[in-house]
Amino acid sequence: MNEGSLLPCPRLEIHLAKLSHNAATLITRLNKKGIAVTAVTKATLGMPEIAAMWLQAGAAGLGDARIENIRSMRNSEHLNLQDQSPMSLIRTPMLSQVAQVVQYADISLNTEISVLTRLSKEAQKINRHHGVILMVEIGDLREGILPEQLESVVRHALCLPNIRFLGIGANLACRSGVAPDQRNMDQLSELANLLDRTFGTIVKVVSAGNSANLNWALSSMDLGRVNHLRLGEALLLGCEPLQRKRVEDLHTDAFTLVAEVIEVGIKPAKPWGCIAQAAFGETKSNKLKGNITQAILAIGRQDTDHEGLLAPEGIGILSASSDHLVISISKPHPPIHVGETVSFQLNYSALLRSMTSPFVSRAF
Ligand SMILES: *Cc1c(COP(=O)(O)O)cnc(C)c1O
Repeated sequence: MNEGSLLPCPRLEIHLAKLSHNAATLITRLNKKGIAVTAVTKATLGMPEIAAMWLQAGAAGLGDARIENIRSMRNSEHLNLQDQSPMSLIRTPMLSQVAQVVQYADISLNTEISVLTRLSKEAQKINRHHGVILMVEIGDLREGILPEQLESVVRHALCLPNIRFLGIGANLACRSGVAPDQRNMDQLSELANLLDRTFGTIVKVVSAGNSANLNWALSSMDLGRVNHLRLGEALLLGCEPLQRKRVEDLHTDAFTLVAEVIEVGIKPAKPWGCIAQAAFGETKSNKLKGNITQAILAIGRQDTDHEGLLAPEGIGILSASSDHLVISISKPHPPIHVGETVSFQLNYSALLRSMTSPFVSRAF
């Protein structure tokens, strides 16, 4: 679209002011309802500039699914984590990583007694306390202790030296798409009440879920014991993941993926020859006929998820291989030339892959 420039391509352009607006708006709205927010950095590869901005915008802490990201944020000069902002590992720790987990994370989400026991041992070794939130299965069938087993796991956790039981949590809409609603959220609150009745007041945190919980959290008149959410997508992309609708007043265009044109020409829309499998299996036929203006961008599956890209008007995404993205160009888009760039918006899947690709550079 624009002139060939000397900026590296492909690149992700990150609009920090828009991200900051999203975070401040959403966190303030939730804080008013008594909900604290852990900002989830995993889709940004633990990018310290974004993490620091989230803490400034009011996040109560940072969360990531990878201990490697947590370690790099700990070591970053952009982040002053000496303050009160805890770092949480939001995936159940691998036994092989528990020593790193107690060293770099303040809190982890857990479901396994064997892991809790090892966390306790490693925490004792370095004379630290490690906070744990126990995840409960309430229907999505990813991580979680079955409700009927929760009491016994909590009893175990309470006896472990250097383990600080903080509360319970749940995660919905990830594996099976089960939506958070008043019924499953009430169940989580009930479990918190049950634990408090059994053990004395021990449940400080009830961490209800991820961005998919937003609609419920912002509209429900009865949040019960829920006082915490872990948010990534909504802060980054300004939308909630159940219907992929924009959250009121948030920006959905804080990220842009820019790729460079390496070939343009008029070509037949249909391939010819005997059609077998393509590089990635599928041989999708398109509905285009006759000749089209086709271009190749120097970006591919190693750099992003092409199915999650939103193209400018007049540009169609035809297919992608490891290193090439084939597009069609028609009106109202102006003609494009080799060396020029095309910009896309991204969904969560495309953003995650672009952020974690070593081939995609970042520009603020
Ligand atoms: C990724 C993740 C989140 C954040 O999810 P978003 O949809 O990006 O808000 C929260 N909790 C857990 C356990 C996760 O794995």
